[in-house]
Amino acid sequence: MNTTLDDTHNPALRSWVESANADGSDFPIQNLPFGRFRQPGETAWRIGVAIGDQVLDLRAAGLIAHGDMNRLMQATPPERRALRQAISAGLREGSAQRAAFEPALLAQAAVELGLPCEVGDYTDFYVGIHHATEVGRQFRPDNPLLPNYKWVPIGYHGRSSTLLPSGAAFHRPMGQVKAADAAQPVLAPCARLDIELELGLFIGQPNPQGQPVPMAEAEQHLFGVTLFNDWSARDLQAWEYQPLGPFLAKNFASTVSPWMVTMEALEPFRQPFTRPAGDPDPLPYLDSPGNRARGAIDVRMEVVLQTARMAREGHAGDVIAHSNFAEAAYWTAAQLVAHHTVNGCALRAGDLLGSGTLSGATKDQCGSLLELTTGGKHPVTLSNGEQRGFLEDGDSVILRGWCEGEGARRIGFGECRGTVLPVFDGA
Ligand code: MN
Repeated sequence: MNTTLDDTHNPALRSWVESANADGSDFPIQNLPFGRFRQPGETAWRIGVAIGDQVLDLRAAGLIAHGDMNRLMQATPPERRALRQAISAGLREGSAQRAAFEPALLAQAAVELGLPCEVGDYTDFYVGIHHATEVGRQFRPDNPLLPNYKWVPIGYHGRSSTLLPSGAAFHRPMGQVKAADAAQPVLAPCARLDIELELGLFIGQPNPQGQPVPMAEAEQHLFGVTLFNDWSARDLQAWEYQPLGPFLAKNFASTVSPWMVTMEALEPFRQPFTRPAGDPDPLPYLDSPGNRARGAIDVRMEVVLQTARMAREGHAGDVIAHSNFAEAAYWTAAQLVAHHTVNGCALRAGDLLGSGTLSGATKDQCGSLLELTTGGKHPVTLSNGEQRGFLEDGDSVILRGWCEGEGARRIGFGECRGTVLPVFDGA
């Protein structure tokens, strides 16, 4: 039924890179995600593909003639498929190219992984309907889901300058906060620091300004998907968000995982896009037969919280939530591209579309502490007895994601890790 699968998706394929064949590896030969890396002492980024616990330097392997990820991302879908075929063929068990590829392999543990590309513009959407409903209930008890939600993919423009690669720490933000019973706000450290479990959708092929991307072509403009943690200052947000939406509560840090899992690699995990009975159909410009048949992507995700004490004691952290993109999202990736461009807005290679917080319907599927602890009122108790309403200094949060399903090899996204530092003290 799915005509977009080819031999690169064959679950029986094995690589001569032995670590790629291990059960549970995020990066088997069926995945081949793209990222940027450099070795100690280097300033320029190089383009790599993850395979097992290694990274293949595409230029050194003779597969591309440059090191510009954003240029690579502008390739047409046939060009992208051809490159994927060439990488897959060279990494397969028994490949004649092994001798040429082997010197281009480096251990991931020995290199620095950066942001996967230069991000020009960053837009954050709000496609998680369970998140939107629960947050709405806390901010506006009488009117949780605003009337435009089921018609418009809601979003706002963020800042690319504060995107962080996985592993980076950041300072707790300062900002204006106002207690409900206070006469006026004060400048204070954020006391309600939160996470947002999201996916990052990266634009590949650009569209010229003035030329909307129709639904039928929308996915051709997407290059790949990462994990994305949109750290949020809930107390700053509550005071500042009306009438123009999020501002300083959101742009102090957002963490991106290193590997863009390509749309091609995600092909085996596509699902029909449906809406609950009684909900309005999307307007025609947000609808297409292809979107109905396979607009959703079955990506499973989890959130791990590791406190400073856990880190000191060698504890990897607790899984505090799990979720699924297909179940959580009210809008599909294609709909976000079609909507973003319907007014003529130009998207460029490397632009990032955040999905919005991907919470499921139940308490163990909350993609933010705001939901998980009901605004801090019911702290979560961790396995070592510590409690958290919101994040404390020294806490690390790790997002993980993967796809698995009948007849396909499991593929993963790697990890998206960030650590909270105390407020910047000028030192
Ligand atoms: Mn967000």
